[in-house]
Amino acid sequence: MKARQFFISTLKEAPADADIVSQQLMIRAGMIKKLAAGVYTYMPMGLRVIRKIENIVREEMVRSGAVELLMPIVQPAELWVESGRWEKYGPELLRFKDRHQRDFVIQPTSEEVITDIARQEITSWRQLPVNLFQIQTKFRDERRPRFGVMRGREFIMKDGYSFDRDADAAGKSYETMFDAYCRIFNRTGLVFRPVAADTGSIGGNRSNEFQVIADTGEDLIAYCPDSQYAANIELAEAVQVGGERAAATEEMQKVPTPGRDKCELVTELLGLPLTKSVKSVVLASDERDEEGNVLPAKIVLILLRGDHSLNEVKAGKLPELKNGFRFATEAEILKAFGSKPGYLGPVGLDPKEVKIYADRSVINMSDFVVGANEEGFHLRGVNFGRDLPEPEVADLRNVVEGDPSPDGKGTLKLQRGIEVGHVFYLGTKYSEAMHATYLDEEGKSRVLEMGCYGIGISRVAGAAIEQNHDDRGMIWPDAIAPFTVAICPMGYKRSEAVQKVCDELHDKLAAEGIDVILDDRDLRPGPMFADWELIGVPHRIVVGDRGLKNGEIEYANRRTLDQKEMVKVEDAVAFIK
Ligand code: ATP
Ligand code: MG
Ligand code: MG
Ligand code: MG
Repeated sequence: MKARQFFISTLKEAPADADIVSQQLMIRAGMIKKLAAGVYTYMPMGLRVIRKIENIVREEMVRSGAVELLMPIVQPAELWVESGRWEKYGPELLRFKDRHQRDFVIQPTSEEVITDIARQEITSWRQLPVNLFQIQTKFRDERRPRFGVMRGREFIMKDGYSFDRDADAAGKSYETMFDAYCRIFNRTGLVFRPVAADTGSIGGNRSNEFQVIADTGEDLIAYCPDSQYAANIELAEAVQVGGERAAATEEMQKVPTPGRDKCELVTELLGLPLTKSVKSVVLASDERDEEGNVLPAKIVLILLRGDHSLNEVKAGKLPELKNGFRFATEAEILKAFGSKPGYLGPVGLDPKEVKIYADRSVINMSDFVVGANEEGFHLRGVNFGRDLPEPEVADLRNVVEGDPSPDGKGTLKLQRGIEVGHVFYLGTKYSEAMHATYLDEEGKSRVLEMGCYGIGISRVAGAAIEQNHDDRGMIWPDAIAPFTVAICPMGYKRSEAVQKVCDELHDKLAAEGIDVILDDRDLRPGPMFADWELIGVPHRIVVGDRGLKNGEIEYANRRTLDQKEMVKVEDAVAFIK
């Protein structure tokens, strides 16, 4: 590539509203151009970086067995209503109407559309596992778009989704993706760390973020240098936001709370071991005496955490209950909730739904049971984190360096990170809600197990700069540099010898598949060097008459600009390779 033919537009000063070094440098180097808050054009120089990151991601995804597709940016609201996220997503979801007043969204992520595809395309166990991914524009109407492409509103994400026959197989898909992510971030040349992450409302313990280590990162990571332990402190914040959960956990430490009493009572009464997988237990009754009073509960609705499904309930995998209690049947759930069990999901109920449920008096709680009849309290029955200590989340809220690591293998250190990737075991959250099922070997219908896997392609570019820059500009790792080599001629128009050597070197390097740019703009050395230092091309070759007298060119690495090396012209290609 010749510079005159390419599009280079560098600036001396960064705009005043650029608040982080990567954003300042990307704008100054002409890599991105702001159009609106959190909305940027990738200019030719920036797009080259984006494409390189994409290619690494694509290669490793394909290597791991995933298959690429491309889903629409514009998605009909119906699917989002079906999954429940039309209600739940909030203002980050950009919604609009078409000319027929039909609702649409711009995808912030694509679980709904991929699940819709899966329920149509995947019918038999023979087709599984399936792992599909796309590299596509996303839109999230972030509350505070900032840091350039690192927290944009429009950004590019690789999002992948796996479909498996059961939780075990889904676990394997998760591991495969985890490994692929390690390869991807190794190849980008960035220093990163996989950390345990919050699983939000989905539950379970399989969620890992990939964090690029940088002091400007928005996330705080606690890790133990002596073990594998590493977690996003957001984890602790999630507990805090849950407020109720955190407060109750503290309460639990002091005296036996009503919650704990009731828990013990339930255990005893039902003979039901409250394991980690039990999210919530509701004792219910739909029987009344002649006067219309609700009789003591004899039905148990049991809601399981994400890695178990209603199918297990249906398959009778739950234990026998004592004292004449039994689990609710599908028909009873349908009657109580007015929707199919599939919609109920294994994840838990919205307090709203429980209220409707109580209002209708379809179900009520008697004196001695855990129940939804106490306003603001046991709305959802027994919950871990509230009635029992949260078993999976270490409380890192007030952690300081030197605190013992939750795994007991040393002490914790803290560092800042940028979340560039996220792998997440979804279980049946979407497949239950949207009825994505397949037939197993016995012809029985089963709900698909899912995982989702994201990488912020455009954020990786920003994170790379945060981690690699100096006061002259960016310093790209070779693998994601816009160009790997810049040839800087001293007098391209003036000296035939210089021009000839530069042209030949350019062609030879290009023939070797090396991304080379020859600066034929005829600039003075100062501004020419300043441009390539700002743009951060990792290798620079200077060709001038003085060196050519000895048959030599000058090489410098962007990281060590003052250690220049003279290299014989004929050795230059081998030297660079
Ligand atoms: P964050 O915590 O930074 O808001 P997230 O957890 O909401 O990110 P995910 O839903 O996990 O993001 O999306 C997958 C990946 O997409 C993230 O790991 C991140 O790299 C990238 N990403 C998310 N939001 C943005 C954004 N506003 N701009 C650029 N990249 C983003
Ligand atoms: Mg976010
Ligand atoms: Mg996050
Ligand atoms: Mg995330």
